[in-house]
Amino acid sequence: MSRSVLVTGGNRGIGRAIAEAFLAQGDKVAVTTRNGGAPEGALDVRCDITDPDAVEAAFAQVEEAHGPVEVLVANAGVTKDTLLLRMSEDDWNTVIETNLTGTFRVAKRASKGMLRQRKGRLIFISSVVGLLGSAGQVNYAASKAGLVGMARSLARELGSRSITANVVAPGFVETDMTAVLTDDQQAKIKDQVPLGRYASPDEIAAAVTWLAGDGAAYVTGAVIPVDGGLGMGH
Ligand code: NDP
Repeated sequence: MSRSVLVTGGNRGIGRAIAEAFLAQGDKVAVTTRNGGAPEGALDVRCDITDPDAVEAAFAQVEEAHGPVEVLVANAGVTKDTLLLRMSEDDWNTVIETNLTGTFRVAKRASKGMLRQRKGRLIFISSVVGLLGSAGQVNYAASKAGLVGMARSLARELGSRSITANVVAPGFVETDMTAVLTDDQQAKIKDQVPLGRYASPDEIAAAVTWLAGDGAAYVTGAVIPVDGGLGMGH
């Protein structure tokens, strides 16, 4: 397999592990970030997904190098946590604009080429928090829940062209995003996880490469939890 794969936010954390997993399979991988630093072997594309012109330019660069995107992994995301009454319009807008609207932008642009090819895989990285809710994260949880509605709508719109749209909902993963939590917060979280630990980024990547592979050709509109059992029941 040597498909054209695009991973947003692939210079660190979960996105980097996803990009490396596709590279290891022999795919042509492009990674978009604001700051660069894609893994070796990937096409390093600068693109702030909150900027529509930058998204257009990034896709042009990827298509020129690797051909139309066959697998899109919308992974780039940010948090701006605080309690509702302290949450500013800016805190809300930054998170929605990056996590939700940014994903809409890249999915729309990627689906253009997928419709022409009559195949494609859209994979969105959501979060257990989008389904369970989380005090202090109304912006983040809303953005991540929005990805489920978006993926399921795309599954219906694009299914007749053999394009699937799925969501991976990680629990807590060892990355920069969770490194900011205090030891006490981390211990409390681990107490609630049946498997009693965080995920490694590779464990999220394994679900993503499965969704992108032949074995998942009949899976669409699904939400795959990779959360150590934290979200059981949703
Ligand atoms: P990190 O904070 O480690 O990495 C975030 C990535 O997103 C970076 O590559 C960053 O690159 C990129 N990014 C952020 N904003 C933008 C932007 N405007 N345009 C382009 N790229 C951007 O996050 P994680 O690896 O922890 O998380 C990855 C995804 O997984 C996120 O969507 C997150 O919400 C989700 N997730 C994480 C969990 C966890 O426990 N860590 C749990 C559940 C879900 P750069 O700064 O260079 O632009």
